[in-house]
Amino acid sequence: MENTQLLELAKKYGSPLYVYDTDKISSQYNRLTTAFSGVKNLKLNYAVKALSNINILRFFKDLGAGLDTVSIQEVLLSLKTGIDPKRIIYTPNGVSLQEIEEVAKLGVQINIDNLSILEIFGQKHPEIPVCVRINPHIMAGGNSKISVGHIDSKFGISIHQVPHIKRVVENTKMNINGIHMHTGSDILDIDTFLRATDILFDVAKQFDNIDFIDFGSGFKVPYKPNDISTDIEQLGIQLTERFNEFCTEYGKEITLMFEPGKFLVSEAGSFLAKVNVVKQTTSTVFAHVDSGFNHLVRPMMYDAYHHITNISNPQGRDRYYSVVGYICETDTFASNRRIAEISEEDILCFHNAGAYCFSMASNYNSRYLPAEVMIVNGKDYLIRKRQTIDDILQNQEIVELPKKAAKQVISA
Ligand SMILES: *Cc1c(COP(=O)(O)O)cnc(C)c1O
Repeated sequence: MENTQLLELAKKYGSPLYVYDTDKISSQYNRLTTAFSGVKNLKLNYAVKALSNINILRFFKDLGAGLDTVSIQEVLLSLKTGIDPKRIIYTPNGVSLQEIEEVAKLGVQINIDNLSILEIFGQKHPEIPVCVRINPHIMAGGNSKISVGHIDSKFGISIHQVPHIKRVVENTKMNINGIHMHTGSDILDIDTFLRATDILFDVAKQFDNIDFIDFGSGFKVPYKPNDISTDIEQLGIQLTERFNEFCTEYGKEITLMFEPGKFLVSEAGSFLAKVNVVKQTTSTVFAHVDSGFNHLVRPMMYDAYHHITNISNPQGRDRYYSVVGYICETDTFASNRRIAEISEEDILCFHNAGAYCFSMASNYNSRYLPAEVMIVNGKDYLIRKRQTIDDILQNQEIVELPKKAAKQVISA
């Protein structure tokens, strides 16, 4: 998006502010569907957890996407868009049997990732088709915190336990209608990813009623200038060929699914924050913005890189800054980063702020969550108001404390 447009939005709605450009979301969606246009039945399910504002979910529904959810709350939110429950897939990890049953009752496709619940669910509800999440033990993702397919990972049923799944199916007469994997984020190596898909084909062959294979997600997008990203077009060519071969062999045109989050929304998001203070210390120049890891936690949590530009002075001479927040705790967005010369009250733009940014934001330090704006056909829509003190207090009960307790506190 243009700097001038972003500056106008910061002026109109205040800072800090999240802005989402739906043109970018559509173009990423179209890139994926084009890359896999050789597959007869393709379904893309947007991973709600990446960015879950209901207007974003409605936008995906209008694009024709399904929705990938990881909690019953995400399912309930998704249903509020009016989407057909059959277009929702629920892929939780370590949740209770009760929650899975509640979601199944809503008509949503469920995906089970452990043997103990699979067995009980199959005994109680053999008529409800279930997808199983397989852990192929292939390391495809990036950072160890976001790679979830490795041997020690808590996700999925180990590939070595497929015979056990088959015994459960035999004993309960339940129906396995899908095979799923999600090996983690930031996949760069297509060959490794394809090795995992071959493992899933082998698993799928061992079940008679497969309707779909869900290859999860984890497509990497560029975060730094000149960063490498997953070559979706190349993956499309190679996986399409293998998938179509599998369908022929299996004797049925099954559906190929993906459930991308980051790929679809990361680059569409910009986070705008205002510089409150420029502080020169003996060693560093700090730019303190009116935000912190309460609003954008990825740098502190995953050492994630977010490109930062000074949209108030884009032509300024580059200088080195540490960009930090206003939280009473270390909250560094960037260290020793080259940015066009910063003055107090300038607006900084954090790029790639669509995925896992607002959705991970908190009220730490009792700060308000930022407002969110969505751009559709060049027009801006406020899709979430900035919070107020009433929101902070909303679920807090002000209780009548015994007088004595209060006195003790005062004298202590
Ligand atoms: C988080 C998650 C995704 C989305 O991953 P991205 O890296 O954002 O594309 C997909 N599927 C499951 C099961 C997930 O937990």
